[in-house]
Amino acid sequence: MTKEQGNIGTKSVWAGEADVLVHGATQVPVVVSVAYNYDDMDEWYDVATGKKQGHIYGRNTNPTVQAFEEKVRILEGAEASTSFSTGMAAISNTLYTFLRPGDRVVSIKDTYGGTNKIFTEFLPNMDVDVALCDTGNHEKMEAEIEKGCKILYLETPTNPTVKITDIERMAKKGKEAGALVIIDNTFATPINQNPLELGADLVLHSATKFLGGHADALGGVICGSKELIEPIYHYREINGATMDPWAAYLLLRGMKTLKLRVKQQEINAVAIAEFLLKQDLVEDVYYPGLKTHVNHDIAKKQMRGFGGMLSFSLKGGMDAVRILLPNLVYANRAANLGAVETTYGPARTTSHIECTPEERAKVGIPEGLVRVSAGIEDTEDLIKDLEQAFANL
Ligand code: PLP
Repeated sequence: MTKEQGNIGTKSVWAGEADVLVHGATQVPVVVSVAYNYDDMDEWYDVATGKKQGHIYGRNTNPTVQAFEEKVRILEGAEASTSFSTGMAAISNTLYTFLRPGDRVVSIKDTYGGTNKIFTEFLPNMDVDVALCDTGNHEKMEAEIEKGCKILYLETPTNPTVKITDIERMAKKGKEAGALVIIDNTFATPINQNPLELGADLVLHSATKFLGGHADALGGVICGSKELIEPIYHYREINGATMDPWAAYLLLRGMKTLKLRVKQQEINAVAIAEFLLKQDLVEDVYYPGLKTHVNHDIAKKQMRGFGGMLSFSLKGGMDAVRILLPNLVYANRAANLGAVETTYGPARTTSHIECTPEERAKVGIPEGLVRVSAGIEDTEDLIKDLEQAFANL
């Protein structure tokens, strides 16, 4: 038995740390050194040229950062991993590693707003063609893949309407077309979904969200085969979107409680969704765990749990949101998600701030849509809080 072999909650606590523990310390040290000393010129050369394991310079590798990469790698069941300063750096560095002018990308219309900007603004500038499909329209996506596809990029569940794509089905189709299949697994976390097991080539996270879980550190991470991770690492080490060792430490510490947090967040998300469904002033509730959710069956098939994210719209639109959200006590009204505190925010101000109202409407995001990231508080308190806030609406 090793520390890397337990169930997922045990791995979150123990895996990936042994190589960096020194002096009998039980916790991973924060190594802040920018460079590493070598008295032996030949050893230095061998490490610098990759013939020998070791560290040379902080933009390339760092022991604390490597422990973080290892833990996520093990949780995602991957051969290799590398990390970034933010989730967006993970996404952009990965796309720019593989795409060349004339290539074609197939994705969905409602990826996270920053990702969507890469597809609609930056990739077209590089002469990369991007086909964006409605999430859940698998037939249309398959037809687009058949027209030519270098990268199939999916985010499931999506931000903020938590729509689901069938990873197994799309990965199979993508592979048949010779595409690289990349999944943003930020919302599901490795606790609830492992895309590599479902046929994807690469799985990435904004570690800023659920992995860290305390809204105090930015980071991104990607996992896959050694063959795919090596060129991504090379692109990042030269372009410099490196994770900070302090961030790596905070993310590692957060990940020890990942399973506990995700479980409680899901309990709270279910309770909030059920409460909202009963409110006359609520127009729609989006949560993949609801039987009424458009992609509930796919979610049930590929996820071990439905997660802590949901969204809803009010009949009074943005005017009603302006009254409701300030009334909540146990809530951060902020542009983050996945934290231990429950967080509410209109999608137009948070995930999709980069889009115009017309662009948001096209992907099914009404101006009054509120994204909820359930925290780990006691469920009764969150429901009582919603009751008083709705009573005053
Ligand atoms: N992917 C998803 C699903 C997100 O929600 C976000 C940010 O909200 C990102 C990626 C980008 O992550 P970061 O803010 O760490 O750059």
